[in-house]
Amino acid sequence: MAFGVYIHIPHCLQICPYCDFTKYELGKILPPKDYVGLLVREIRTRARDIGARTVETLYFGGGTPSLLEPDLILALLEELANQGFRLDPAAEFTIEVNPGTIDRGKLNAFLAAGANRFSVGAQTFDPRLLKLAGRKHSVDDTVATLALLRDAQAAFTLDLLFALPSQTVEDVRVDVARAIAFDPTHLSAYCLTVPDHHPMAKGRADDDGQAAMFELIESELKAAGYRRYEISSYAKPGFESRHNHLYWTEGEYWGLGVSAHSFLKRGEWGLRFWNPTALPAYEKQVTARTSDFSFEGTLPAHQHERLREHEALTDFCHVRLRMIQGMPENALRLKFGEASATLVLERLAAIERQGLVEKADSHWRLSTRGKLLTNMVFEKLTFLAEDLGTH
Ligand code: SF4
Repeated sequence: MAFGVYIHIPHCLQICPYCDFTKYELGKILPPKDYVGLLVREIRTRARDIGARTVETLYFGGGTPSLLEPDLILALLEELANQGFRLDPAAEFTIEVNPGTIDRGKLNAFLAAGANRFSVGAQTFDPRLLKLAGRKHSVDDTVATLALLRDAQAAFTLDLLFALPSQTVEDVRVDVARAIAFDPTHLSAYCLTVPDHHPMAKGRADDDGQAAMFELIESELKAAGYRRYEISSYAKPGFESRHNHLYWTEGEYWGLGVSAHSFLKRGEWGLRFWNPTALPAYEKQVTARTSDFSFEGTLPAHQHERLREHEALTDFCHVRLRMIQGMPENALRLKFGEASATLVLERLAAIERQGLVEKADSHWRLSTRGKLLTNMVFEKLTFLAEDLGTH
């Protein structure tokens, strides 16, 4: 059964104004070495309850994991292995990298530790927009980091952010062209998401402008040999993210660190549990454990849940529709039975009439309009216990 490990490193060089992740400015919280000590403790006390197994995908996310010294990464790998979580020799092992935080020596040490995929938070190649996004790194830092990875022949993905204040479709075209020039194996393009009252909400392209940006990104990347396989993700053939695929196909994963989420196939529909979102609460919880502990037995009720059918059905619809291959009707029927499938198909038919989804070859997919209005689609495909008569 596919299994992945996610490790959250919350340290950042700066706090970006649009960021939703759990992060803290370096120097304002405990140093990375002490934080890794907490992670080691978490691995030790939770391993038996998770159940030893081979790790097929390992993902260091954040925050800025590239701020960690390589020996700290090795310490975590060693502790995982000691507790029975050995890395598969063919595992996908990703480290998120902020431009300007690695040099050749550090990259070589990461590669020697087994990392084989790097995710670079480039965001934009426009210095003015980069500054506006509150990033500390410069475009030169991004270019140097990407060149370093390319020269080392390391597989890398880069993140682009679009629909920034004052950014035009032409600006996006330039960004995409510069990204393609580095020949990444994978690329993610995210539309900036901020609430209406946020300072970065002003001066952004309207819905039509954002749609034009989306379409331009897809067509430019397609022409360069990338295939869109999820709403925001593009890859050269064979370089799709295996770790994210776990999330999108009900695979099991163990999330370590502050705010990390986990999913195991326990019970009829699965078990979800998660760590506190604030570092002091996480630290308190991890240090309070002295021996093996059962998360279901000891975690507060608001940190774990056995999924019920309506929640599993909601998750299934959302993640399958995020993927470009879409949601197969037969998989829906097989997993949830005829009555639940009929309910979903009725709702899909209703939003098909609104032009949000399309059906072809027994698969339901988001239309172009649906890809831009995912919140609307997902809201219609959110199920309550009473919808299924299971309350
Ligand atoms: S570097 Fe990334 S994780 Fe850190 S604050 Fe900025 S966007 Fe958030």
